[in-house]
Order: sequence, then structure tokens, then C-alpha cells
Amino acid sequence: MKQLFDWIYLLEGQVGLRPLYLPVFWGKNGVLIMDTGCARHVDELILPGFASIGIQPDELRFVLSSHPDSDHVGGNAGIQRWAPQVLFCCGDADRELVQNPEELFRLRYDAYRPFGVFYAEEVARGIMRDLGEAQSVHITFRGGERLRLGPDQDLEVLALQGHSHGHLGLYDRRNRALFGADAIQGSVYLDVNGNPALCPTYLYPETYLQTCQLIENLDLDYYVSCHWPIKKGPEIGQFCQETRTFVQRADLLLRQSGITDLRAACLDLGPKLGKWPEQVHFEMAYALAGHLGLQ
Ligand SMILES: [Zn+2]
Repeated sequence: MKQLFDWIYLLEGQVGLRPLYLPVFWGKNGVLIMDTGCARHVDELILPGFASIGIQPDELRFVLSSHPDSDHVGGNAGIQRWAPQVLFCCGDADRELVQNPEELFRLRYDAYRPFGVFYAEEVARGIMRDLGEAQSVHITFRGGERLRLGPDQDLEVLALQGHSHGHLGLYDRRNRALFGADAIQGSVYLDVNGNPALCPTYLYPETYLQTCQLIENLDLDYYVSCHWPIKKGPEIGQFCQETRTFVQRADLLLRQSGITDLRAACLDLGPKLGKWPEQVHFEMAYALAGHLGLQ
């Protein structure tokens, strides 16, 4: 468990070969954790991390799910068992997907089956395992709300749409830090060895670019995400620019290719957009479906 500020910590784990960072806010009024990783991360990462600094079950007040993905909501039910009083929160638009793993799989991971892009059965089983059990959400946010975890320990909820309709971030104005989860994704997800592991997986190019602009204009000192190293000062603007350039390039290449079939677009554009492993070209379906207006 790494300490970022006097009351803010970061759990550092892995999802496959990719890094996974989960922010923990330990205010005088209680603890909030942003995202719970995959189902296995409760026992492998979160509870050992809590124990290492002395967080007890009755101190955990909120779980805020930034968006509905297996590596962000999979541990929700496990956390509920450890701390039954905890209140689960997420973006209003993401509520159904956050609380229902079957719907999340069907509507997000399996959404491109009609276009011939879908995960092999074994991979799909792994995703379902990572998604964990259903856990209902108690509170939803639309951005603009404030959570006071203690005197001078305020967090502002920001709507950072694009990777999902309800994607949320937490803004700590005092430390000029934004905890943005997967809101913007640069041009690639690198693994822990620095090799390209996954392409950007935004779904809605228009709102994703608006989020990029919003983050750029916040005048931050720190941008803390869930899979990229902490960005400081000028690195934040560079990450925003890298994010924007990728989206614009994907859009341009798609237009130039004239391709309208999603599977063909993945195969054609994947190798042009990044040096990730070959099967990752199909993960471009999330973004390219957005560019093709299929979602
Ligand atoms: Zn993620």
C-alpha cells in the first residue's frame, strides 16, 4: 500500500500482466475505496492492503465503482461480505451494469457478437469469474456531488464519460489531484514490463474526447488512474494529447479505409494503431463500434 497524501493511499496489484491501482481514501469519518478489482482481488490485494495500515471493516463506508468492468466491480460482493454496512455507489447511467454481472457480460463484453467479434469460450468464462457475484448499488451520482470524509477531506464527484456512459472520477481539490480510473487511456495499456498489452477501450468517442478536454482544463498536479503510472504536472497534458491523437487517428484511418464491417475494421486498423499482441486487434471493437456509430 503506497501513501500518496496524508489520508490517501493506493493499492498496487495486477490484472493479468497489467498493473492495477485502486485508490483508498481514509478520512476522519471513514474509508472510501474506488473500485474493487476482479473478484479475487478482495483476498489477494484489498484486505491485505487494508490490514497493512490498520483499516477495520467497520471503518469502510463507501465503495465507489468508477465504471462497469470486471477489474473494477468484480470484488464488490466480496467487500460487502467483509464490511456489510458499506454503501455501494456508481454513475447513474452505469447502475444496471455495475450491479448485474450477467447483464454486464451480455451488454458490454458480448455486445459485438452480432458483428462476428466475441471472446472464446474459455476467455468468456474467465471474465465471468472476474466479474464476481451480483451486488446492488445504493447511491448513484451524475457528477457535481461532494463527499466529505472528514474536515478538509472533501472529494468532488466528476462525470468522466466515454469509456462508459456513467464513468466517474474523484477530484481532490486541495491536493490538485484527480482520480480518474480508466477515463482516458492514452494510446495503449502497457504491461508491468513496459510491453503493449491492450488497446484503448473507450466506447463513445465524442464524450471520451470531452472528458479528455475536461481533464486537461482542471489544471491538476496529479492524475491517478487505475492502469497507468501516476501522471504529474506536464505529463497530464501529454497523456490527454496522446489520448486525443489516438482517437483522431482511429477515426481518420477508419474513414480512409471505407470499411463499415466491425470485424474487418479491427483486422485492418488494429495493426496500424498499435503493437499489442495480435488477438488484441479484436479489442478495438469497443472503440471502432463507437466510430462506426454501432453503439
Ligand atoms: Zn480497468
